[in-house]
Amino acid sequence: MKHLYLLGAAGSIGRQTLDLVSRFPEQFKIIGLSLGSQQQINEEILKTHHAKIVCLRSSENINLYQSLYPDTTFVVGNDGLMAIAAYPDQGVFINALSGSAGLKPTIKAIESKKDILLANKETLVMAGEIVRKKIKEHQVSLYPIDSEHNALWQLIDHEDKNDIEKIIITASGGALRHLTRDQLKHIKKEDALKHPNWSMGAKITIDSATMMNKGLEVIEAHYLFDLPYDKIETLLHEESLIHGMIQLKDGSLKALLGNADMRMPILYALSYPNRAKQSLSPFELTDLHFKKMDFNRYPLLKLAYEVGIKKGLLPTVMNAANEAAVKLFLEDKISFLDIEKIVIEEVNAFQNINNPSLDDIIQCDDMIQKKVFDYKKKR
Ligand code: MG
Repeated sequence: MKHLYLLGAAGSIGRQTLDLVSRFPEQFKIIGLSLGSQQQINEEILKTHHAKIVCLRSSENINLYQSLYPDTTFVVGNDGLMAIAAYPDQGVFINALSGSAGLKPTIKAIESKKDILLANKETLVMAGEIVRKKIKEHQVSLYPIDSEHNALWQLIDHEDKNDIEKIIITASGGALRHLTRDQLKHIKKEDALKHPNWSMGAKITIDSATMMNKGLEVIEAHYLFDLPYDKIETLLHEESLIHGMIQLKDGSLKALLGNADMRMPILYALSYPNRAKQSLSPFELTDLHFKKMDFNRYPLLKLAYEVGIKKGLLPTVMNAANEAAVKLFLEDKISFLDIEKIVIEEVNAFQNINNPSLDDIIQCDDMIQKKVFDYKKKR
């Protein structure tokens, strides 16, 4: 029986993880979780999974929940997330939070000697070097849930790293993939939120349309697999059926195929090093299409490679500007193309520093996000 801590339980990845926990009650048990802002979803989760510790977004309903679930400890906000990460009982820590708020709890969980299953990209984008050091220091493992990295992990697992020529991360192209840059000018959020293959949260769906998501994934892959950026490629693949490929030094190309169903990578990560016996969604092979990545069409992906190589605080700046800009776009306050414009401007304007501390990173994230929100007020 694996004990689990799940941050972001009410989000898309979180709820699919809980679905798996319910399907495999003898193998997985939730010890701690954090909820979101939708009360109905929260109540459903509380009813189904009896956790020892639960983190709420705000203290609004804490008395009500405490009276309904007297055996559960309720905690609140960012401090509450940290309390779950530091919870003394052993268990696997699953970070399915969206955004930079995921960074500190991951670090805390590593320091509390919990193995990490990571769906929160920002953790490695912002602090990849610090996280890698911490993992070594505290002798824990960190495994990816993101479908592409999970595929790459499965492909790389039995290979000698020196035999790997390159890894290839596939990209569907997102909701607006058939539009030219000119046609992107008047895009509404409803259009950008229609992902052709995956059903995901709003932030990551917009990031898929701008290809920022793939950019974050490239940086994430660099830290997960300890490979230089010139060995990390991206490839347009409309069907999202191949999630990752690796090319070996003898020319062999290995690919991992599967439906666009996040429960597959989550189940693999939860069950590792074993495999669960259950086929979640029958796989049907259809036509597969591939197209060379177009960096002119997707400038944020090009930017991600550049800031990844430059390191320091630049990945944090890029991520923070994007996080704030996507929020503004989802509030109808800026246009779709403004997202790119803001992110590129913030990165270009920033005076980078090398080897930032965790505090530097968190302050920088905060500062850039505020700056982007203020920028809107001034216009
Ligand atoms: Mg992905």
